[in-house]
Amino acid sequence: MLRLTEIKLPLDHDDAALHAAILARLGIEAAELLRFSVYKRSPDARKRTEIKLIYSVDVELRDEAAVRERLAGTPHITPTPDMSYRFVAQAPEGLAERPIIIGFGPCGILAALTLAQMGFKPIVLERGKAVRERTQDTWGLWRKNKLNPESNVQFGEGGAGTFSDGKLYSQIKDPRFLGRKVLTEFVKAGAPEEILWINRPHIGTFRLVGMVEKMRADIIALGGEIRFQSRVEDIVIEDGQVCGVLVNGELLPSRHVVLAVGHSARDTFQMLHARGVYMEAKPYSIGFRIEHPQSLIDACRYGAAAGHPILGAADYKLVHHCKNGRSVYSFCMCPGGTVVAATSEEGRVVTNGMSQYSRNERNANAGLVVAINPEDFPGYPENPLAGMDFQRHWESRAFELGGRNYNAPAQLVGDFLAGRPSTKLGEVEPSYKPGVTLTDLSTALPDYAITALREAIPALARQIRGYAMNDAVLTGVETRTSSPIRIRRGQDYQSVNTRGLYPAGEGASYAGGILSAAVDGIEVAEALALSMVAACGGS
Ligand code: FAD
Repeated sequence: MLRLTEIKLPLDHDDAALHAAILARLGIEAAELLRFSVYKRSPDARKRTEIKLIYSVDVELRDEAAVRERLAGTPHITPTPDMSYRFVAQAPEGLAERPIIIGFGPCGILAALTLAQMGFKPIVLERGKAVRERTQDTWGLWRKNKLNPESNVQFGEGGAGTFSDGKLYSQIKDPRFLGRKVLTEFVKAGAPEEILWINRPHIGTFRLVGMVEKMRADIIALGGEIRFQSRVEDIVIEDGQVCGVLVNGELLPSRHVVLAVGHSARDTFQMLHARGVYMEAKPYSIGFRIEHPQSLIDACRYGAAAGHPILGAADYKLVHHCKNGRSVYSFCMCPGGTVVAATSEEGRVVTNGMSQYSRNERNANAGLVVAINPEDFPGYPENPLAGMDFQRHWESRAFELGGRNYNAPAQLVGDFLAGRPSTKLGEVEPSYKPGVTLTDLSTALPDYAITALREAIPALARQIRGYAMNDAVLTGVETRTSSPIRIRRGQDYQSVNTRGLYPAGEGASYAGGILSAAVDGIEVAEALALSMVAACGGS
């Protein structure tokens, strides 16, 4: 097969146009083209008046060798790479030991699925509840101001990605096409097939719930076991080797443990630190969510084509480098979505964003965050958990400013820039549930962050006209942009000082987002499988 890239067609092209463009590119008659499939389709909206679709396609030809010879050296025509996934190991017969996976988010799910597919029968321990029960608890906070610290947006089946926008793209290097395996597994579990070929796929919350259940069923059918409401409270390490974990008072032995606990497992980080597992503080970002009318973003990005069904609700990605040396950037933008209450700890307020597949809510929201470094954390460098304490500090402050009832503190952009408290809403209705408390956000983050945001918002309005509109709403605080620690691992994917412990996914800082966490889960599963096979005397 050959892959043709950079085939540009107008947004409203008819079905025959792509076929014709392929024939023209290759200089062949229709009879020579046996079949083709779209590998990727991306809109190019750099010129709003002339939006194009850019295709990459894989083609099967009657005489590929002749075409290759004739077009040798022609740009944008290459052999289609082999993207199929091959298992690296098979579990030996009668394997006595079972690997343990802590956490059933995207990383833990793909680690468990891959291990189960190779014949290792993993035991998954997940502190939260199965996804349907978890949904009820999560709504408990959003509707009734009632938090369940063990079952919420961060904790439970599906992990932090379940109540999300379900964006499925990442900038990781992926020479083995592991992202393709992840997306293929997602499609098998019920995701729309288009996620395999549109450039910025997303799934939305509703579908994610069903997919997670289907993948759980697959893992169990392959001999895996998944235990909910099973928080790992301790870990047993002997002579630098993990030997088991303590869960609900029971000691589960295993010398192969995947740690896929996400970035909010603060008690678990503390436990691991107390047990001597090596970890270090790392940079992350803090800020607010910002909400605009989605129509403003659509008009700015797509002009007259706004609302076109192929384009959908427009997104954006913005960055501004401030005079005080800080960078401000948009994070986890959710077109046509809602701002969600994302705390997992009592007495704290955290924001994030989610959407449904249709992305048809009135507002666009995104984190608008300021990059911070370990040097900003009181207690650094002595305390590797100083960044986590820093998060807690600002999340508690947000709880206070919000009125101590899980409402989030909020302010209109015009008032924030002018330095006066907000007292009434304007055109933009904030979507955060259970609700917002209008206030002055200038003490909700450190001064340097406030200064940076006040400089950035008007500057970003040069990229999206109206971005600094007076009625846009800021809601605080966005603190869980990534993990505050890195649990360092070696080339063998094991902790640098604890053999048999495989730190993985976002919590250990080896991923940022659903897709990269899932890819990391596969890589860790492979390393673990090879190690188990080697321990049994295999090769
Ligand atoms: P997690 O998904 O955090 O999973 C960790 C799991 O471990 C949790 O289920 C937790 O309950 C469990 N756990 C923790 N401690 C223990 C313990 N001691 N014992 C047992 N279990 C434990 N990313 C995107 O790519 N696209 C998006 O659109 C997107 N939107 C998001 C929206 C929201 C509201 C949130 C909160 C996040 C969003 N993200 C998004 C980020 C994404 O969800 C994470 O990057 C991803 O889920 C990380 O995967 P993970 O498996 O490493 O960790």
